[in-house]
Amino acid sequence: MMCALAAARRGLSVVLVERNEKLGKKLYITGKGRCNLTNDCDLEKLRANVVTNPKFLYGAFHDFTPEDCIGFFHELGLKTKTERGGRVFPSSDKASDVIKVLEKELKRLDVSIRLNTRASDLILTETGDKRICEGVVTGAGEKIFSQNTVIATGGCSYPTTGSEGDGFKLARTAGLTVTELNPGLVPMTVKEPCVKRMQGLSLKNVEVFFRREPGAKVLYKDFGEMIFTHFGVSGPVILSASSLLGEELKRGALFLEIDLKPALDHEQLDRRLLRELESGGKKSFKNMLKALLPASAIPVFAELVTDNPEKPCNEVSKKERESLRKTLKCFRLTVTGLRELDEAVITRGGVSVKELDPKSMGAKNVKGLFFVGEVIDTDALTGGFNLQIAWSTAVRCGRGLPV
Ligand SMILES: Cc1cc2nc3c(=O)[nH]c(=O)nc-3n(C[C@H](O)[C@H](O)[C@H](O)COP(=O)(O)OP(=O)(O)OC[C@H]3O[C@@H](n4cnc5c(N)ncnc54)[C@H](O)[C@@H]3O)c2cc1C
Repeated sequence: MMCALAAARRGLSVVLVERNEKLGKKLYITGKGRCNLTNDCDLEKLRANVVTNPKFLYGAFHDFTPEDCIGFFHELGLKTKTERGGRVFPSSDKASDVIKVLEKELKRLDVSIRLNTRASDLILTETGDKRICEGVVTGAGEKIFSQNTVIATGGCSYPTTGSEGDGFKLARTAGLTVTELNPGLVPMTVKEPCVKRMQGLSLKNVEVFFRREPGAKVLYKDFGEMIFTHFGVSGPVILSASSLLGEELKRGALFLEIDLKPALDHEQLDRRLLRELESGGKKSFKNMLKALLPASAIPVFAELVTDNPEKPCNEVSKKERESLRKTLKCFRLTVTGLRELDEAVITRGGVSVKELDPKSMGAKNVKGLFFVGEVIDTDALTGGFNLQIAWSTAVRCGRGLPV
């Protein structure tokens, strides 16, 4: 949609081919239905949040910055608001409003929208040693000829939204390399069954550390929010970690250590525990834990620390208090791997950036063929950065398409 708009604004005649019955199905579910459409940040922060091939994106980011993106949507009549960490959302909290303004602009610019139409093949010819793409063949066998063909089919995560990885197949038929596809921003599976008992529990303001072995060097650390699921862990800090630790996890399980009390050091926490236990008196240990932990975590932590969670506070031993302190500062789980691609927010890997010209997003060896968005081998962390990649690459491409 964004590329179609950028091209149509230059007066190019554009046909937008969408396999679904409506536009923007994935956009609709972004940001939990609120669409975190970009991040209100400078180029340095934007680049720092790109995990794969940031350099390839420098020019595109420069052409269409987050500020340009916000301005673009304001111009289309979409009001926005900026939340924690620079995350930009529509003021209405409705992703559907983002789609609406894009659709309205597409109509205003007379872009021909072909819904329920799947691009299933490319029309390729050869002259000398150069391949030329002259359009697409639809699932129904219709040929749509065009001077420029832009593949914006997304990745292959959440395939029910329409992104099933068709763009990767099309790229391969044109002789382009598609790098290994992996899930990114995806939940993690955990060995310990106790996570299931805490399913749905969200921990805010925790610090997480990932290590190969207890005591070994920290491979990744973050601060923020996470959630327990029936199979393991998810939430912002876990999703971000998944994009950076995917390769490490292929080599074997990692230890996730959760500091539930990062604002207190061991000494301060010990003093707090002493206070709670002293004032607890005859109250059961389990009951006292309410002051320190959310309800669903209490049975799990109590069992890790003592054989008798019902014992009165004044009978809790020094060893048990020490064990509670250590468990609160370092709740250790074994991460066995990542969940599958269809559950991933983003597909890592894609059309190799080595074979694309970053100035035009065009395939170096196929004239008339371009790639934008998630289909390219780039991905970023959460915060609106992935959509900014899609917008920036699309605008750069649309503005540069040869007439
Ligand atoms: C649950 C979830 C939440 C997310 N939240 C955010 C967020 O808040 N902020 C953020 O920055 N990023 C978010 N992302 C990531 C973001 O949605 C993607 O990076 C972005 O949508 C990629 O844009 P795209 O245009 O490249 O691909 P897509 O948005 O996937 O669009 C591709 C389109 O091409 C169509 N298509 C595919 N194959 C064909 C074909 N053969 N013929 C015709 N049409 C075809 C599809 O139907 C689809 O409409 C989220 C992703 C998920 C899954």
